[in-house]
Amino acid sequence: MISRTKSDALFAEALQYIPGGVNSPVRAFRAVGGKPFFVNRASGCRVWDVDGNEYIDYVGTWGPAILGHAHPKIITAVKAAADHGTSFGIPNPSEVTMAKLICSLVPSVQKVRMTNSGTEACMSAIRLARGFTKRDKIIKFDGCYHGHGDSLLVKAGSGALTFGNPDSAGVPADFAKLTIVLPYNDPEAVKAAFAANQNEIACIIVEPVPGNAGLYLPKPGYLEFLRESTKANGAVLIFDEVMTGFRLAPGGAQERFGITPDLSCFGKIIGGGLPVGAFGGRADIMDYLAPLGPVYQAGTLSGNPLAMAAGIAGLEELKSTNAYAKLEQLGAHLETGMRDAAKSAGLPVTFNRCGSMFCGYFTSEPVWNVDDAMKADRERFKKFFHGLLDAGVYLAPSQFEAGFLSTAHSEADIEKTVDAVARSMRSL
Ligand SMILES: *Cc1c(COP(=O)(O)O)cnc(C)c1O
Repeated sequence: MISRTKSDALFAEALQYIPGGVNSPVRAFRAVGGKPFFVNRASGCRVWDVDGNEYIDYVGTWGPAILGHAHPKIITAVKAAADHGTSFGIPNPSEVTMAKLICSLVPSVQKVRMTNSGTEACMSAIRLARGFTKRDKIIKFDGCYHGHGDSLLVKAGSGALTFGNPDSAGVPADFAKLTIVLPYNDPEAVKAAFAANQNEIACIIVEPVPGNAGLYLPKPGYLEFLRESTKANGAVLIFDEVMTGFRLAPGGAQERFGITPDLSCFGKIIGGGLPVGAFGGRADIMDYLAPLGPVYQAGTLSGNPLAMAAGIAGLEELKSTNAYAKLEQLGAHLETGMRDAAKSAGLPVTFNRCGSMFCGYFTSEPVWNVDDAMKADRERFKKFFHGLLDAGVYLAPSQFEAGFLSTAHSEADIEKTVDAVARSMRSL
């Protein structure tokens, strides 16, 4: 067992001052047991905890670190920007650079507005869709996460067409009533919802490749179906690409699958590790935003010069290198290794991967939605997770999170990981 005494001491102190000791619940290790470790340094694909232990990281700060941690170009850009001031609250040139960059990489985005988080981006895109369509109800899918805005913290009720129940205390049931929650990858459920709520549904919001309940892919034709049915019913199609944007392709999942949504939400990668989000899409919809239109949306720190500098440096680096080919290669290597490890350990594992995102579920059944994901053996995952952690490999501390590769991972890192996976699986 490796020692984490300094981490443990910090966590004990944190518990006294921060609810649960963490500033975001997923960090608390509740799903896997044990205590979180504290990190004070990260570089490339590695993080170091305060006790000096080193880990190969497959969380990548939950998605942003596609170039690895502390990429020199991002660090240099942030330092240079900081020398000129950390916030102006007045338009700055890098906001224009960033907007042009996003619009050029993602052709469905004609205009874009920056926010400070993915949560804000999703919340704002929904408000905009409601304002534009003058309709109140929205459709989301069970297991898709769109940040912690009130009307989005709703999971499936008992029947697909019944109104949602809030997932969190503090969300009034009346808000949740306007959110219709449906199973992912089930076209019939969408058809039925549109039929039962004619001219009432403002939008469908969806993670095109859901990565917040592990990782599963759209069935062939499913995203095309969502595009067609929203169009036919006068509803806005919102792709939440906070996780998949600039990761699954330069233009995100929409490029990879060839779909043109009306609005898209971004975050994570576009901030290069600084707090950021964005939403954008059709100009006629975006022009409904204040100050042009009646839908209000704002932010003191939106378009922050440090966040813009980090994001621009990261996107430029992704654009000018063969990042996506490399990520695909690393992903394929990891996939083969993990499948072989499971096979030789005689464990049922369903391994899903899309480019540099992956999830191994401890189940023999295919996983196409959150109900399938729930069949995974979480007790087995707990042991697997801790086995890997003690071997210096850090996966997200839950069976229901995606893993992320970065361009800073090497073939040797993957080999090392696959060895650790094989050892951990044999001991299960
Ligand atoms: C992370 C995430 C969000 C929320 O972004 P924050 O920056 O954490 O607020 C929204 N949607 C998806 C798909 C995400 O993965």
